Amino acid sequence: MPENDSRGERRFAGTAVSPGIVRGQVHLKGVLMDEPESRRISENEVEPEKRRLKQALLQTRGQIVEMRQKIEEAAGSENASIFDAHLLLLEDSTVLEEVTKLLESECRNVDRIYYEVIERYLESLRRIEDPYLRERAIDIEDVARRVLRNLGPGEYADEEMVFEGLGEEFILVAHDLTPSDTASIDRNHVLGFATEVGSMVSHTAIMARSLNIPAVVGIHALRSDVETGDEILLDGYNGLLIVRPNQETLEEYEILKAEKAILLDDLQELRDLETETADGHQITLSANIEFAHEISQVQKQGAEGVGLFRTEFFYANEESLRSENAQTRQYVDVAVAVAPNAVIIRTVDLGGDKLMPGLLAEPEPNPFLGWRGIRVCLQEPDIFRPQLRSILRASARGKVGVMFPFICCVEELREAIAALEEEKLNLRKAGEPFDDNIEVGAMIEIPSAALMADELAREVDFFSIGTNDLVQYTLAVDRVNDRVSDLFRSANPAVLKLIKQVVEAAHRNGIWAGICGEMAGDLLMTPLMVGFGVDELSVGASQLLSVRRAISRLKVSECQNLVKEISGLSSAVEIEECCRTLVMEKYPELIT
Ligand code: PEP
Ligand code: MG
Repeated sequence: MPENDSRGERRFAGTAVSPGIVRGQVHLKGVLMDEPESRRISENEVEPEKRRLKQALLQTRGQIVEMRQKIEEAAGSENASIFDAHLLLLEDSTVLEEVTKLLESECRNVDRIYYEVIERYLESLRRIEDPYLRERAIDIEDVARRVLRNLGPGEYADEEMVFEGLGEEFILVAHDLTPSDTASIDRNHVLGFATEVGSMVSHTAIMARSLNIPAVVGIHALRSDVETGDEILLDGYNGLLIVRPNQETLEEYEILKAEKAILLDDLQELRDLETETADGHQITLSANIEFAHEISQVQKQGAEGVGLFRTEFFYANEESLRSENAQTRQYVDVAVAVAPNAVIIRTVDLGGDKLMPGLLAEPEPNPFLGWRGIRVCLQEPDIFRPQLRSILRASARGKVGVMFPFICCVEELREAIAALEEEKLNLRKAGEPFDDNIEVGAMIEIPSAALMADELAREVDFFSIGTNDLVQYTLAVDRVNDRVSDLFRSANPAVLKLIKQVVEAAHRNGIWAGICGEMAGDLLMTPLMVGFGVDELSVGASQLLSVRRAISRLKVSECQNLVKEISGLSSAVEIEECCRTLVMEKYPELIT
């Protein structure tokens, strides 16, 4: 607990990306500067201490360079440039000269002296009311923490391991978290998280929703306003982080929590029902998962199968799971668990903001426009072929579909399907069973694919519209950059035109079309998706029952009227307003 709690309540607003209300103490990720003990040393020990510091600086340099490379591969050179600044701070001659001078004059252990010198700098920076300098203080602390760890005994704990070994429960506050950071969060300790950057459709946010971790992102410069140990309340419904909440706030939140609990309880009655509109039109409501273990949770929420199994996360995280057998086991487990419903397994969609450990020798300047999704698979048969065989094997054990991400043209789709056919042949030769009629789909998430939907539809059994990417690529808005997140709107008329056109093309060609991007769970957009005639919606576990309730309150004719009404509108804001009027009439209690 901070010593002075009389500072009063402060509220910070960001983007609510994963629902829930949690209260606990802050743990600032990346700020773990422990205070080393002070120890006298003899004059003879001064030179060895200098060498110890030099060694620690070298080791730190190596770690920063390695991390820079990792982040560059995962998130691009812009995100990695922070580490260039870290290298400069590490080698700052003023600091190093001062440490050497004090070491010689005071004859005390070098880690303590280094700590004191850094602390003095930090103190003066913290007193300056300049957000830029405060940011620098965080960077300096980050670098110094590494140096101190390398000076100390034992193994260096790198960033990913920050989550381990922390005994109590806390709310994690970080500048940013990667999707794999989020996946490795230990729910026994981390109640929720808040970050300074991020957006609703980043894979970090998607992961938080899947794992049911309340989260708020995009609270700028938050780390200069909170400290480890501060008492906070995180409101993942309204995107608020409240530091040192006062009694009135706590009471207000007790009421909100109770209301939400009643609503969730009430929604449970829809668990075993089908998803149908008030006038009896059925829509398949399935779930998105990232890990096989999520299946029990999504079934508890009444999912009618899995509409999107994102397979790249376990692929990217666990070396041991990359084997063909392990993949097969994962897919079989899910296929058996969801039967008689279907699971649609998406082939790995590496690239963009998803890690590709060791795959890229050189970082890409534009990862979202680069080597991603099906492009990687088609060039890396060692990744693609075992996955296709695993999916086919699972198809013998349940109802399995396969779909290909990031299709931009018909050639890619044909090549992917040809690879699948070849693997069918291989399994047949080996006498291994599979479903020869396995459904094959294309993800429509690039505008070129949406525009060529008629041609693509002739090649496959279904379309799954990935609106996260479709919005990103149609509007040229980076899905993970919160600076431009105001422009990231699925209600943009250009996006809606494409979606409508894709669904119509699918139906014209006798195939079905679903939506598996985050738009599928956006209750403001539900009437439009029903009005477009979408056959399936695949959403995160936490959204399932709300979407089912929303659909149950709508009539197809009303939704079609809404589609007509918005077709005359030219801006996203106007379209959202129109949708809001209808949803506030139909299911106000579901809208936060
Ligand atoms: C999408 O782009 O909408 C989608 C579902 O795929 P992902 O979010 O994994 O890119
Ligand atoms: Mg996508």
